[in-house]
Amino acid sequence: MMNTAATILSDSRGHDDRGISHSREHFHAVSLSGGKDSSALLLLMIERGMPIDMVLTADTGMEFPEMYAHLAKLDAHLYRERGIHITTLRHPKGFEWLMFEEPKQKATSIAKRLELGIPLQGNGWPGMKVRWCTGQLKSHLINKEVNRIKGQHRALHYIGIAADEPKRVKGEVYPLVEWGITEAQALQICYDRGFDFGGLYQIYRRASCWCCPFQRIGELRKLRQHHPELWARLLQMDNRARAMFGPGPLGQFRKDWTVERLEARFAAEKKEDSV
Ligand code: SF4
Repeated sequence: MMNTAATILSDSRGHDDRGISHSREHFHAVSLSGGKDSSALLLLMIERGMPIDMVLTADTGMEFPEMYAHLAKLDAHLYRERGIHITTLRHPKGFEWLMFEEPKQKATSIAKRLELGIPLQGNGWPGMKVRWCTGQLKSHLINKEVNRIKGQHRALHYIGIAADEPKRVKGEVYPLVEWGITEAQALQICYDRGFDFGGLYQIYRRASCWCCPFQRIGELRKLRQHHPELWARLLQMDNRARAMFGPGPLGQFRKDWTVERLEARFAAEKKEDSV
């Protein structure tokens, strides 16, 4: 059985018996990716009566339609329970502008591109070494806002990382870790409260950008099957990137695969299956 709003405060600084602050002296900002872990965190913080002053999300513009519907549902729940809305941060120009149009400014990068015969605008597909999307569309926006808040208040920044995920940053608050809630439990917590992500997690292992080049081949196979309209957009984006940047890392979706070749591979597999 879950703890409810009646969490017992065990010290005068407003920390509960698991070290989580309930203090009104702090500004409580929650980061929300919309995935199962941060959604579970927000639902539990609401349910346990923990203070929430702001819920921040960064929209890459490339989320699944089901994710946008989920975020709208969470927002309605948050507003009903706490009278606040989710604050959505967006890059002013978005993913495709950064990928195809952002003018390069640095002299070294201009010189390198001239040498390689690559256009002077656009970042191309994100790569392992230059994961510009996470930086520019998510972490930079969130960090800037959190730093702004921390400059004005004694702020606590809550992040929904599950107890079985290794990645943590010093100085932030990880209640799911404190509560020992795993990724599987986080998903169940959302389901139990009527948040089913429109079935996204029944299809995919992950629910972030549908165009992510770092996802597994199996996920892309499912994208083609379950979201053919997004698959068609991915094909267009990759063709445009290759026409613009050539077959190198900026122009090709993945090191060993263009989306066109993946399309041929998946189509052939489907044909074989139906024989
Ligand atoms: S999910 Fe993939 S494409 Fe989206 S921001 Fe993260 S790394 Fe980039």
